[in-house]
Amino acid sequence: MHAVQRLFLYRQSLSTTEFRARGYKIIRCEVCRLGVENCICALRQQANSSCAFALIMYDNEVLKPSNTGRLIADVIPDTHAFLWHRTQPSDELQQLITNPKYQAFLIFPGEYANAQQEVHECKPVDFDESKTPLFILIDATWRQAKKIFRKSDYLAKLPIVSIPALDLEGEGIKGEQGDTEELAVKERQSVDPRNSELVYNFDSRYQMRKAEKEGQLATAEVAAKVLNMFDDKQSAIHLDLWFDVFSYRYQQSKSQKNQANSGAIALYKEFIANKL
Ligand SMILES: [Zn+2]
Repeated sequence: MHAVQRLFLYRQSLSTTEFRARGYKIIRCEVCRLGVENCICALRQQANSSCAFALIMYDNEVLKPSNTGRLIADVIPDTHAFLWHRTQPSDELQQLITNPKYQAFLIFPGEYANAQQEVHECKPVDFDESKTPLFILIDATWRQAKKIFRKSDYLAKLPIVSIPALDLEGEGIKGEQGDTEELAVKERQSVDPRNSELVYNFDSRYQMRKAEKEGQLATAEVAAKVLNMFDDKQSAIHLDLWFDVFSYRYQQSKSQKNQANSGAIALYKEFIANKL
C-alpha cells in the first residue's frame, strides 16, 4: 500500500459523513478510486525512478476520485504524502526535508518566491548528484495551494523549482476564482528543446475537472514535467502515460463524451513492455 492510499484510508476514517464528490454513487475500486468496471489496478507498474516526492495534500483532496496525486505514488516508489496542518509540518515531513540523503525542492511558481528564496527553472548545475531530489508538491486547488505556501514557514525556506509553464511572464495564474482548480498553469507556446526527444508531448490532457480551461495541468502532469527537468525522462513518460490511462478510464465512467486519448492503454502497455 503506498503513501497516498494510506493517507486516503486515514482521512476517510476521520470523516463522519461520506464524502460526496460528483459521481459518489458509482461503486469505486478502493485503490484506484475508479468505477469498479474501469479499474486500472491490474495495469499499474512502478518506475525505477531516481527522484522522490512528498505530497502535501489539502484536507479532503485525497478523498476526491479525480485526485491525481495518487498517480505519482503509483509510479514513483519513493513518494510520501501528508495532510497539511496549519500549525506545524508533521515530524515525518520535517525529517524528510532535513534528511541529508535528499535535496528538497518546493515545486511552485517562482513569482511567489520570497526575496531570499532560490528559484530554479531547470535542474541546478551544481546539483549534488549523490543526493536524491525530493520534490515537495502541494496537492490542492490553486487557492488552497497559495494559502498553504503563505502559512507554512518551512516551505518558504526551501529552494523553488519553478517549471517554465508555472512561471508566466505577466500572464498570472489562471482560474484563481475557482474552487476546483488544480495548480493552474499555462503551457508556453514554444517547445522546450530539452524535451524534444520525448515522443509524448506534455500538453495538458487533463479534462476531468475543467475541460474548458485550456492549459491547466494536473498535479501528476506537473510531477512528470519536473521529472523530465531532472533528467528522469523514463519516469516522466511513464507517469504521463499512466495519467492518460487514468484520464481515459475516469471519463469512461462518466456519461459525458470521453475526451481522453482512447489509445492511452495501448500506448502505456507498449511503453511498459519495452521498458522491462
Ligand atoms: Zn482499481
